[in-house]
Amino acid sequence: MSVQHFDMAVIGSGPAGQKAAVQGAKAGKRVLVIEREQGVGGGCVYRGTIPSKTLRESALQMNRARRLSSMLEMKMHSDLPLAALMSRVDDVVAAHGVYMRDQLSRNGISCFHGRARFQSDRQIELQSVDGERQTIEADIIILATGSRPRTPSDIPIDHEHILDSDSILSMIYLPRTMTVLGGGIIASEYGSIFSQLGVKVTIIDRADRPLQFLDEELAHTFVQSFEEQGGRYLGGQRVSNVRWDGISQVLTTLQNGEIIGGEKMLVALGRQANIEDLGLEGAGLSVTEKGTIPVNDHCQTIVPHIYGVGDVIGPPGLASTAMEQGRRAACHALGLPESDSAQIIPMGIYTIPEMSSIGLDESGARKRYRSILVGRSKYHEIARGQISGTSDGLLKMIADPTGEYLLGVQIIGEGATELIHVGQMALRSGATIDSFIDNIFNFPTLAEAYRVAALDILGQRRKQPAFSAQSVPTAA
Ligand SMILES: Cc1cc2nc3c(=O)[nH]c(=O)nc-3n(C[C@H](O)[C@H](O)[C@H](O)COP(=O)(O)OP(=O)(O)OC[C@H]3O[C@@H](n4cnc5c(N)ncnc54)[C@H](O)[C@@H]3O)c2cc1C
Repeated sequence: MSVQHFDMAVIGSGPAGQKAAVQGAKAGKRVLVIEREQGVGGGCVYRGTIPSKTLRESALQMNRARRLSSMLEMKMHSDLPLAALMSRVDDVVAAHGVYMRDQLSRNGISCFHGRARFQSDRQIELQSVDGERQTIEADIIILATGSRPRTPSDIPIDHEHILDSDSILSMIYLPRTMTVLGGGIIASEYGSIFSQLGVKVTIIDRADRPLQFLDEELAHTFVQSFEEQGGRYLGGQRVSNVRWDGISQVLTTLQNGEIIGGEKMLVALGRQANIEDLGLEGAGLSVTEKGTIPVNDHCQTIVPHIYGVGDVIGPPGLASTAMEQGRRAACHALGLPESDSAQIIPMGIYTIPEMSSIGLDESGARKRYRSILVGRSKYHEIARGQISGTSDGLLKMIADPTGEYLLGVQIIGEGATELIHVGQMALRSGATIDSFIDNIFNFPTLAEAYRVAALDILGQRRKQPAFSAQSVPTAA
């Protein structure tokens, strides 16, 4: 039997694999994408970013409609059928899946549906759903198999009462109460989304506050807002047992003896890379202690023509980063110029309210520069915040000790994930704090918060004893 040959084979059709494949095809190469699922687009489209953000948007719009109907003294249906919300999620996911498939076929990329397994460093065995096997050969192989929820063995996830982030959206009704295990991004996002939908949510985590990697003030503001919404954050807790009582409750026993009940439980305790059954040893590939594929700055593994991109190589576990890694890996493999890799990656957290961060936060900057200046702008102090009734927002600008240069921006509140890109561009171009003051912002906008925060820094700078200008610090 002849072995089909491709210039590039990409295993996995998520954001990382997709962008690598498109880059390869645009360079005129014969590219094959191998995807074990029926649809292309990866976890991002079917179980991650797209469905969770669609549900979030529906939750926000529902609440806006509720507020509006009470303002206009109109009646709104009090029952919220989850089915209606989920059908919108299904529509958006389906549309995105079609768009992803179109993108592959428009670029002349071949797609095979089945499992991939290395036979050697250039040969891959493909096994279709009906069990048929064939072998293909490729000069360049991009490994983009993504990740899945980490499921601790002592938590009996049944995907009906105790769910993970893959199965949470298969619920057919909205529970009245929900327990969320974990304090990371997925736990905080889903916790606040379901809370917004009227579910009484309790988040339980080992850490005193959720989102340990995030600016403390932002995390604190988030918890405050979550609790004002009716949620409860139980920090500093260890879980000794989780069980479904067989009737109506998932019972979580904490080590301090407290028992928390919830109709449903979401287990969001991190992710693990999909590396099993790939026959990595056959290709000469190694795995890190954390179960991820080690790569260099070009996403190249120890086997020079095999690249690893996206969640399979570990943090930050973002679709945005995965796409960039896919493009860069393909460019490097094909000898094309790679654009300057962004060293400063923005982080968007789609909790309610949403949060975003770029560059150094307050504690990171203090560690590096000791005395820094922090400019704050609260949404309720700016016209747009007052007009749109989004008073619980905060924008923080972190400046170097001279108060001249921007080191980072952290935002919580409406539009945070969009607004952060103003800060990102400023950081990349080494813009000064004064340039935000000299700038004319549309009025009224939330972006004006940058100017207000910059003025706050200017005020503090003026109070400082004169000191000689220091060299421009790097913001990384
Ligand atoms: C609930 C949730 C919300 C998220 N929200 C955001 C967000 O708001 N913003 C953001 O940037 N990121 C978000 N993420 C993260 C984002 O979804 C991932 O970082 C991104 O999907 C990773 O892309 P990837 O291409 O590496 O892998 P994936 O999207 O996981 O795709 C990997 C693909 O490889 C396939 N595959 C695996 N093994 C094989 C095999 N042996 N043969 C063939 N195919 C195989 C899988 O079927 C899958 O389709 C979220 C994730 C979750 C779970």
